[in-house]
Amino acid sequence: MMDERIRTLTDQIVGQFKRLGYDVNADEVYKRLKLLIHEFKVPESEAVRTIRNWLMKEYEIPREKLIAEAPLVKIADITKPGQWISVKAKVVQLWDSSSPSVSQVGLIGDETGIIKFVIWAKSGKGEVEEGKSYLFRNVVTDSFQGRMQINVTRTSEIIELDEDIPLPPREIEVVGALVAIQQNSGLITRCGICRRVMTKGICPIHGKVEGFEDLRIKGVVDDGENVYEIILNEENIKKLTGIDLEKAKRIATERLDRNAVLSELKGRLLGRYLKVKGTRGGRYLIVSDVEFLRGVDREEVDRLLEEVSA
Ligand SMILES: [Zn+2]
Repeated sequence: MMDERIRTLTDQIVGQFKRLGYDVNADEVYKRLKLLIHEFKVPESEAVRTIRNWLMKEYEIPREKLIAEAPLVKIADITKPGQWISVKAKVVQLWDSSSPSVSQVGLIGDETGIIKFVIWAKSGKGEVEEGKSYLFRNVVTDSFQGRMQINVTRTSEIIELDEDIPLPPREIEVVGALVAIQQNSGLITRCGICRRVMTKGICPIHGKVEGFEDLRIKGVVDDGENVYEIILNEENIKKLTGIDLEKAKRIATERLDRNAVLSELKGRLLGRYLKVKGTRGGRYLIVSDVEFLRGVDREEVDRLLEEVSA
């Protein structure tokens, strides 16, 4: 019987060498991988490295060639689509993906910038975690709606790093009105396995599993010049409204309606002026701190503006 995982790893290795111009024996790679992983219990990444080294010797491939294949670049230097690159970066935000063809989507960053990443489901790549740093090896750059992103494909590799990749050093401060709060905000349920947002008790990946409640807001801040998409977590929401997860659960229970939490948060936050500190990545602002701009709300500003123009 064919082992799916070994098959995937084999395809990956064979594909990588094919792009270098070498037709390696897939059966041989498969057999050796299976032996290393199943018989000798060598960890996957170690087994892959071993096979790769063996192939390089076997086909007399200079090491520079393999490294040259996907050069290590900084995020700020990713400007063209269709480039095969490697990137060392920290996962700064994971988003919900409603598409079954997408395994994970979100933002990664290094000290030069932040960029969107997509791990395609058929790439068969392991899951990444927020806050952890990885080497994204042999990924391909792409442009979607005029913005750059990286795609993790079958031939890519994701290797967790011990080092902590720093984010861009300069935090910015945005003062603007919270002009929108998107769906899937308020009291949400996350999958107990992967933390994805569940809809009616169903995780898009794991189906009907045990979940846990969380509080968050996906919103849009407009400072008059730019709009920024932000995500506020429980801590941010508590700071602004006094509503934490426990209180949110109580609101939902008392009013027999989970959506009551979202209504409550909208009532307290929509149109209010916020001072948001964070790191900018394209149209996203990774929030590190948020507070109200005291004494100002949108209606008041609108009224003042009307008075001025009258
Ligand atoms: Zn799940």
